[in-house]
Amino acid sequence: MSSHPSSPTASAPSTVGALVPHAVSRLRAERLQRSTRPFLARGGPKGERCEGCRLRPSHCLCALRPTQATRAGMCLLMHDAEPLKPSNTGWLIADVVAETFAFGWSRTEMDAGLEALLADAQWQPYVVFPQEFVHEPGRAVQQLPPPAQQEGARRPLFILLDATWPEARKMFRKSPYLDRFPVLSLHPEQISRYQLRRSRRDDHFCTAEVAALCLDLAGAQRAAQTLETYLDIYTHHYLQAKHQLPPDWRSADHQQLQRLQNAP
Ligand SMILES: [Zn+2]
Repeated sequence: MSSHPSSPTASAPSTVGALVPHAVSRLRAERLQRSTRPFLARGGPKGERCEGCRLRPSHCLCALRPTQATRAGMCLLMHDAEPLKPSNTGWLIADVVAETFAFGWSRTEMDAGLEALLADAQWQPYVVFPQEFVHEPGRAVQQLPPPAQQEGARRPLFILLDATWPEARKMFRKSPYLDRFPVLSLHPEQISRYQLRRSRRDDHFCTAEVAALCLDLAGAQRAAQTLETYLDIYTHHYLQAKHQLPPDWRSADHQQLQRLQNAP
């Protein structure tokens, strides 16, 4: 990882205080240490990147990081190189959802931290995966208990397999420690409503979009909208940086994020 002070520009908001590295950031650092490709440690061959958001310093989003406290937690099981990809959106989930946990996936070994998390009685884990891959009767669910019944109950912990689709299928099949948990499957109406609202044509959602749908099901609408908006802003900054253009700090999405942050 590169380390440098983020250079403030005329239009970019300044970062307030130092950001504590979150679970995905820590996993990335661990993974980099094991990397045999040293250029990755410098942020890739195309120049330096902010270690808080992985973007170029001129496009740094750290000052906008919209952390939300939610009842729901997120548990990211990340395939090998996933934490290293600048396009990985699990990172954004960890920015927004205060209680996000991240572990490298292994077929043969289970991380002790993951084991402890899954055994923690405050959480009700749900593996988020399509219903057609679930063979045990009654294991797939499409909803969570209504919010009124959630008080005092266990908090939902969404287990997201953060990987390409073929990798995720393999992870789902070959993780026996997940077999005891219900599988939360997004239902078609929810998916099509989402596609309409987001003007999406396909249903290959990225991990952050799946997380937003889960938050919505858990009754955490503001966190869901915050994550979606933040994903759009991240995508904008990422693409603008790639094309060597400045980001639009006053875009509709930036204003929407501010409204979500300021709303009572
Ligand atoms: Zn940054």
